[in-house]
Amino acid sequence: MSADSSSPQILPGATLGVLGGGQLGRMFCVAARTMGYRVIVLDPDPLCGAGHISDVHIQAEYTDQAALESMAKQCDAITLEFENIPSESVRFIADKTIVYPVAESLEIAQNRDIEKQFAQKAGLRPVPYAAILSEKELQQAADDVGFPAILKSNTLGYDGKGQFVVNDVAELESAFEQVGKVDCVLEKKINIRCEVSAIVARNANAEMANFPVSENQHRNGVLHLSIVPARVSEEITKLAIENASILADAMSYVGILAVEFFVSEDDVLYFNEMAPRPHNSGHYTKDACVTSQFEQQVRMMCGLKPGDTRLMSPVVMVNMLGDLWLPNWADIFAQNNIKLHLYGKPEARPGRKMGHFNVLAEDVESALVVAEGVFSKLSDS
Ligand code: ADP
Ligand code: MG
Repeated sequence: MSADSSSPQILPGATLGVLGGGQLGRMFCVAARTMGYRVIVLDPDPLCGAGHISDVHIQAEYTDQAALESMAKQCDAITLEFENIPSESVRFIADKTIVYPVAESLEIAQNRDIEKQFAQKAGLRPVPYAAILSEKELQQAADDVGFPAILKSNTLGYDGKGQFVVNDVAELESAFEQVGKVDCVLEKKINIRCEVSAIVARNANAEMANFPVSENQHRNGVLHLSIVPARVSEEITKLAIENASILADAMSYVGILAVEFFVSEDDVLYFNEMAPRPHNSGHYTKDACVTSQFEQQVRMMCGLKPGDTRLMSPVVMVNMLGDLWLPNWADIFAQNNIKLHLYGKPEARPGRKMGHFNVLAEDVESALVVAEGVFSKLSDS
């Protein structure tokens, strides 16, 4: 790409904005401020974790046009911490300042049916599924997909919310009722050997980088731990990165794109879903990679070159949920190879993500022993 067709670079001293001030917004703020940018966060919660770190916290709803306008005026570029920011809000600020990812990318990632169709067209292999738009389609979907299956609401699902495992048509009918008869997908329940995710970064000049593939273990639909390098074949690793890169290119995506996959017991890589932002399964990059996913997010929105994504150490990331509060901090600090990250949330609720820790060791097996040991003591306390 010639120099004159490159998008302009936004450099330290400029002001960056983030829509959403939870843990992802907060870690973005830390990275941006470390790199010398001013940061403005917009979030309706007066106590949001990013508010403690940002230069300015605009406390407003994501649909508040006056607040969005004021933010856009002050920011050289804006990004988002999660995909459920209304895309109309993103469109509204897009003609006032730079916003990445763009509304079109968001709209794909906000809807499971659209996202799967997009992935399929791009040549990826989604889990076999059927779209359900009304009660009349339940029987047909059941016939097409078979049981066991998982019913998922098309929009607004995260951490396993809005999902039901169903074993027959009667269960499917009652799940559809429970989910409020909204648009859904019915997915075949895959016999999973393991889950992996691939995170790629792409800037407006189409320069790309990928982080090492992570192996992810879930509990009750929520990420429990990530293991890097993933313990899967080189073919699966390569295919996951290739798939994520294809998706990013197909959307002309700008920003961080995280793609989740299932590896089935017969070693097929299925596309599960994508997130147009840094991802929980990429938190290991904060301590184990040359460039973290949050620094990379800053680089991508600012039109800078992607930073080196090299893994400097095997690592296991463990999520800390509100169920375990208060943890026994001494157990964590008794280990000299644990890096603790807390999100500054004032109140611990069951299932709420309060923080995570990364265990760095010579190999993933030793890191896992320490991670599991410390985690099991946390849950005793
Ligand atoms: P969320 O948006 O809540 O992350 P996911 O679709 O990723 O929703 O589902 C959460 C978890 O539930 C997955 O990581 C996986 O462990 C399990 N799961 C989801 N869909 C399937 C499926 N089709 N087959 C087997 N397990 C699944
Ligand atoms: Mg998921």
